[in-house]
This record gives sequence, C-alpha cells and structure tokens, in this order.
Amino acid sequence: MSDCLFCKIIAGEIPSAKVYEDDLVYAFRDINPMAPTHVLVVPRQHLASLDAADEASDETLAALLRACRKIAAQEGLSNGYRVVSNCGPDACQSVKHLHFHVLGGAQLSERMS
Ligand code: AMP
Repeated sequence: MSDCLFCKIIAGEIPSAKVYEDDLVYAFRDINPMAPTHVLVVPRQHLASLDAADEASDETLAALLRACRKIAAQEGLSNGYRVVSNCGPDACQSVKHLHFHVLGGAQLSERMS
C-alpha cells in the first residue's frame, strides 16, 4: 500500500534497522524502544491488523510467529520475552500494518494493560 509506513520500510524507501527477513516476513528495531530489545515483526503482505488475518495465508501467519521465536533466539532472550500485537483503537494501534512487538532483555511488567 503506497501510503503505509511499514510497506515503505519493507520496500527500503524509509530506512530501518533490519533484524531478520525471509520471503514472507521483515523485522526491524522499533524507533522508540520500550525494552532493551524491541523488534517489530511484520508480514511483507499489507494487512491492516490481526483483524485481517483471514486475508493472509496460513503460511504467512505461521511465518510471523516462527520469526518472533527466531528473533528472540537471535537476540539472546533466553530468559524470556513478550510478543504483543495491538489491534484497533482500544489497543492504541498506531500503524495500520499488522505487526508483532517482540520485547525482552529485562524484567517486564506483570501488567499487560
Ligand atoms: P503500534 O502502536 O502497536 O501500532 O506500534 C507501532 C510501533 O511502530 C511503535 O512502537 C513505534 O515506535 C514504531 N515505529 C513508528 N515509526 C517507526 C519507524 N520509522 N521505524 C521503526 N519503528 C517505528
């Protein structure tokens, strides 16, 4: 999608700190990290949010979760990590391209809200 920030990052039109990529997934460091490790894992296919999951193949959805696990290992998060996807206004989703936040590298809050 031409006006989507993450589509522009995937296309290399906006710079990013790449952490991982494969045929279906691109991952890069969050510009405003909320933990020592904060990586965004996104599908190359434009999907507005998890609500659009039915527009994606099972292969793409599985690739996203496998990438989260690979990135956690690559980043040395052996003591644990959190995977979050904000979906819609109540969750404060700010970029309308499906993404998973992978957070770790410190003790995270028990609170999820
Ligand atoms: P969300 O609020 O769940 O939609 O998450 C969007 C995330 O994208 C936020 O954590 C932002 O800090 C991050 N972000 C916005 N612009 C960029 C960018 N150019 N490069 C990396 N991360 C970004």
